[in-house]
Amino acid sequence: METHEYPNGEITILWKPKLCVHAAVCVKTLSKVYNPKARPWIKTENATTQELIEQVAKCPSGALSIKKEPNNFE
Ligand code: SF4
Repeated sequence: METHEYPNGEITILWKPKLCVHAAVCVKTLSKVYNPKARPWIKTENATTQELIEQVAKCPSGALSIKKEPNNFE
């Protein structure tokens, strides 16, 4: 399934447009990140990783999910 990726360096938000029901829960919950009129429409740099994880859990359709980045050991 088509999946768009929005990384912030720690996690990546995955968005599957075909599952999105456009309920706009994400836009109402975290409008500084989700703006359907902007490109990219998800700006992960505008919230903390914790805020992003909590918001993604509220998406009613499963269109949003989180992929953890591998730990960056130097
Ligand atoms: S909350 Fe989920 S289903 Fe609703 S608009 Fe956002 S991504 Fe789409």
